[in-house]
Order: sequence, then C-alpha cells, then structure tokens
Amino acid sequence: MHCPFCGTQDTKVIDSRLVADGASVRRRRECTECKERFTTFETAELIMPRVIKSDGTREPFNEDKLRSGLLRALEKRPVSLEAIEQAMQNVKSSLRATGEREVTSKMIGGLVMENLKALDKVAYIRFASVYRAFDDIREFGEEIARLND
Ligand SMILES: [Zn+2]
Repeated sequence: MHCPFCGTQDTKVIDSRLVADGASVRRRRECTECKERFTTFETAELIMPRVIKSDGTREPFNEDKLRSGLLRALEKRPVSLEAIEQAMQNVKSSLRATGEREVTSKMIGGLVMENLKALDKVAYIRFASVYRAFDDIREFGEEIARLND
C-alpha cells in the first residue's frame, strides 16, 4: 500500500489485529521512506442490499452515509471510534442477514437506533430526533420515558 504522506510504495505492517468481532482487520503501517505511521481497516466486501427511500426511490447502500450519521449522533460523546466501527459492522451484518435484495431506509434507521441505544443514550435520542424516525411525537416521548427504566 502507498504511503498517504509521501506516496512511496513501500510500507510495512507493524501491528495487526482483529476488530469488530473479527469482521475487520486493523493494521498499523509504517512508511519505510518518511517513517510516518498510519492505520488501515480491511473488511471483506460483501454485497449489501439496495436501499428503498421513503419516497420509493432506490439507491445503493452507502457506508459513508451510515458512518456520518453515526458520527453526527455521537459527536462529543464518550464513545471510541472502535465502538462506532463495531456498530457499523452490526448494522451491515443485520442488513445482510435479512437476505433481502432491497431494504427500507426506515429499517436501517431502526438498526442504527438499536445500536446507538446500546452505545450511548444521548446519541440515540439525537439520532432519533434528527431522522424523525418516530411516527409521532408521542411515540418519541414514550421512548425517552423508557430510557429511564
Ligand atoms: Zn512516506
């Protein structure tokens, strides 16, 4: 892999470990030229179902969108990047496990909420309110009340 700092082709792996329940490999690499270090994540590429949006249009599953949604909800919250990566993997494997070729964006939102709920309650509420994932305000209120259980 090319060094992202100087572009040299020769980089070496100095540490390698499994993350996200073995779904990815995290590698620390060092450039043999400029000695900069960087991290790569390696994940098997598996086909994700397409997404049916609320207006009925379809789009390819977008991992960046999922990540930025999670990061936005978790902004300034005490949650590690690894935990976020794990949540991403959870959502993706749940989607693949459906065996469906197309899934609704609402279903994805539900999976994200499930994972956020386990990670951080503030982030969960943020996500739910931003994405208006609840059908009405009463349902949202009930959900908040349930958090105190
Ligand atoms: Zn370099």
